[in-house]
Amino acid sequence: MAVQQNKVSRSRRNNRRSHHALAGANPNECSNCGELKRPHHVCPSCGHYDDREVVAMTPEIDLEDDAA
Ligand SMILES: [Zn+2]
Repeated sequence: MAVQQNKVSRSRRNNRRSHHALAGANPNECSNCGELKRPHHVCPSCGHYDDREVVAMTPEIDLEDDAA
């Protein structure tokens, strides 16, 4: 195992970690419904990508009605 030669001071350790913060998300508006969505991803609310519907958004299906 590699063993460090010198103790890293709190200041130097914290200065190194000053770049470790997570960047926030950068959502875009959906061109179809205007909802905020992740860039380069299908819109989760309307299923559109690049003005095409690529995921069919069906209304909620009541499972108890279909069981019979
Ligand atoms: Zn949308």
